[in-house]
Amino acid sequence: MNVSSLARQLKITTQELLEKLPALGFAIGARAIKVDDKLVPKILHAWKQAARRSSLQEEMSLIKEIHAKDGNGPINKLDKKISVPDIIIVKDLAELMRLPVARLMAELMRNGIMVSLNEKIDFDTATIIAEDLGFKVEKSDHEVVEEENKRAKLEKLLANRISVDSRPPVVVVMGHVDHGKTKLLDAIRETNVVDQEAGGITQHIGAYQVKTHDRLITFLDTPGHEAFKAMRSRGGQIADVAILVVAADDGLQPQTLESISVIQKENLPFIVAINKIDKEGADLDKVKQQLTELNLTPEDWGGKTICQPISAKLKTGINELLDLILLVVDMNELKADDSGAAVGTIIESHIDKSEGPVATVLVQAGTLKIGDTFVVGAVSGKIKTLKNWNNQDVKTAGPSTPVKILGLKQAPVIGEILEVVTDKKEFKTKSKNLNGYQSNRNKNSSNNNTDDENASILNLIIKADVLGSAEAIEESLNKIKVANTKVKVLKKGLGQITEADVLNAEATSALIIGFHIKENKNIISLASDKNVKILHFDIIYKLLEDIERRLETIKIKKTVHNISGKLQVLAIFKTNKDSMIIGGKVIDGKIIKNSKIKVLRKDEIEAVGELKNLQAGKENVSEVLAGTEAGLEYKGDPIIQVGDILEFFQEVYE
Ligand code: GDP
Repeated sequence: MNVSSLARQLKITTQELLEKLPALGFAIGARAIKVDDKLVPKILHAWKQAARRSSLQEEMSLIKEIHAKDGNGPINKLDKKISVPDIIIVKDLAELMRLPVARLMAELMRNGIMVSLNEKIDFDTATIIAEDLGFKVEKSDHEVVEEENKRAKLEKLLANRISVDSRPPVVVVMGHVDHGKTKLLDAIRETNVVDQEAGGITQHIGAYQVKTHDRLITFLDTPGHEAFKAMRSRGGQIADVAILVVAADDGLQPQTLESISVIQKENLPFIVAINKIDKEGADLDKVKQQLTELNLTPEDWGGKTICQPISAKLKTGINELLDLILLVVDMNELKADDSGAAVGTIIESHIDKSEGPVATVLVQAGTLKIGDTFVVGAVSGKIKTLKNWNNQDVKTAGPSTPVKILGLKQAPVIGEILEVVTDKKEFKTKSKNLNGYQSNRNKNSSNNNTDDENASILNLIIKADVLGSAEAIEESLNKIKVANTKVKVLKKGLGQITEADVLNAEATSALIIGFHIKENKNIISLASDKNVKILHFDIIYKLLEDIERRLETIKIKKTVHNISGKLQVLAIFKTNKDSMIIGGKVIDGKIIKNSKIKVLRKDEIEAVGELKNLQAGKENVSEVLAGTEAGLEYKGDPIIQVGDILEFFQEVYE
C-alpha cells in the first residue's frame, strides 16, 4: 500500500505519518513510499491504541487537575451539564433536565415556540431553552442521551421508595483485559457459592451471589461486563462497589485508567485488587506508586485507597477481599424497599432456542413475583417463571437479587429498566404506547398494501442517525404497493445497530436496515452467526428500490406465473450496481423479451429481476429457443453466478 493512501485513511499528511511511525515501533524509513500490506492492519491498530492512550492521558490529567483544586475529595458531577442530540422530544428534554414537562413547555412558549410534549425540537432550540434554564448544553451521541434518559427515569422510580431493609451489595469487577477479572470472579464463585445443590447447574445469567459471614454479596459477571458497558453512564446506579483488578506484573494500563475514570465519575466506592501476586515479576510497590501518581494513594502509604493483594489463580486473598467489600458497604449503609411493585435493570438478555426470549433482571426495589405484569423499554410481558443463578425456580426476588425471567415477547435491551405495573388499566395503556418492538399482532406500524390477511410480510428493523430519517423511511415504505405483500416495521430507532437488534431480527426473521450508520465488527460477526441480514443505505430512494425488489421477490414466491423457459448461466460479462450482462444457454422452452426472471440456485429463489435486452449472436431479438445460446441484460440484484438457472416468466393477473 502507498504511504500516502494510508495517511489519507488516517486523515493526516504523509509527512506526519512518516514522522510518527517510528514512535509506534514501525521503522519504514523517513522517505518510504510504500508500506508492506501485512504491516497495514498492525499500524492501524497501533495508531488507534496510541490515540486512545493519549485521550485517556488527557482525561487523567484533567482528573488530577480537579483533584489538585478540590483537595482529595470526589469529583463533582457536572449536574447542570446535559447532552442533547440533533433532535429531541420535548418530554425527553424535560427528563434530561429533571424538570417537570410543564415547566419546559412554559419556557418554550415564552420563547414563542408552541409544541406539545411529544413533539420534537432541534438541537439549537433545545440549547436556547436549556441555557435559559441554567444548563450547559453539549451535542451528544444518541446512545449517551438514551442512557441519560434511563438514568433520570430510574432515579425517579427509585426516589419515592422509602428504604427500609438492608440489602446485599452489588459488586462490579473492572480492569484491563487479561488482568484476571474472569479468573477472580471464578475464584470467588468457586469458594463461596450460595446453596449450590449437588447436581445444580450453574448458569451464567450475568450475576451470581455468594455468602460470607452470613451475608450475601451480588457480583455482576456478564462477559466483558456488558451490562456495565451498556450502562456506562449509570454504573453507579447498578453497582454499589467496584473491584478494580490490576495485574501486579503489568501495572496500570489504558483500560485500568478508563475504569478509574468511570469509578470517579460515578463516585463509586472501590477496592483495588492487586492480582497475580504469585507471578514472577509481580511488583506491588510499582502498582502502588502508579496509584499514588493518580492521587489514589494506598492506605498503607498514608492515603485512602483500599488495596488487597490477591492471586486469583491460587485463590489467595479472596476472603480478605470479601471482608473488605463488606467493610466498604457498611460505611455506606445500603437500604432498599422490598415491598411493592418491583423496579430493576436488565443485565443480560438473549433468545434461547428452547426457552425463547430470556433476560436477567437485577431487582433494585420491591419484590418481583411470578404473575407480575411489566414493561421493559419497548417490551411488555408477564412473569411466567423466575429462576435464580443456580437455575432453581424461585417465586420471588427482592432487592439486589439477580433473577432470570421468562415470559417476554422480545428480548429486551441490556441496561433497560424493568417496571412492574400492577394496575391493569395502566399496564394496558403503557404496553399500548410502546413505540419500539411491536407485538406481531399489532398492525399499527405495518403498511396497508393489501387487506389480505394472508399477505407475505417483510419484517424490518430500521436504525438511522436521526429519528426523523427513520420516520421518513417508514412513511415512504408505507407507500410502496406490491400486491399480496406487507412491510412491517418492528422497530425504528436512533443510533447504532445493537446486539439486541440482531437478536430480535433473528427471532422475527427481520432484515435490519442501517441508514447513515455503521455497525462495529462484533455486530457484523454476530449477524453473520445468526444469519441476519444487515443492509446499509445513505439515500432513501435506493433503500425504497431495494425493498420494493424484495417485496417483488416475496410476491413472486407466492403468486402464480407462466414460466416460458429456462437458461443456464455460462458467463458473466458485466456486473453493475443493479444490472448484469450475462451469457447462457436456453435449456428449456423459450426466452421472451420483457419477461421477468427468477434467479435459481440449488432450486432456491435467490432474487427476482427483469429481462431488459436479449441477443442471439450479435443481433437484438425478441425470443430465443431451447438449445440456443443467448446474451442478455438482467435488471435486479446483481448476484447471478455462473451455473445459476434463470427462469423466465410472465405474471398472471387475476
Ligand atoms: P480478564 O481478561 O481480566 O477477564 O482476565 P482473565 O481472568 O481471563 O485472566 C487472564 C490470564 O491471566 C489467564 O490466563 C489467567 O489464567 C491468568 N491469571 C488470572 N489471574 C491470575 C493469577 O492470580 N495468577 C496467575 N499466575 N495468572 C492469573
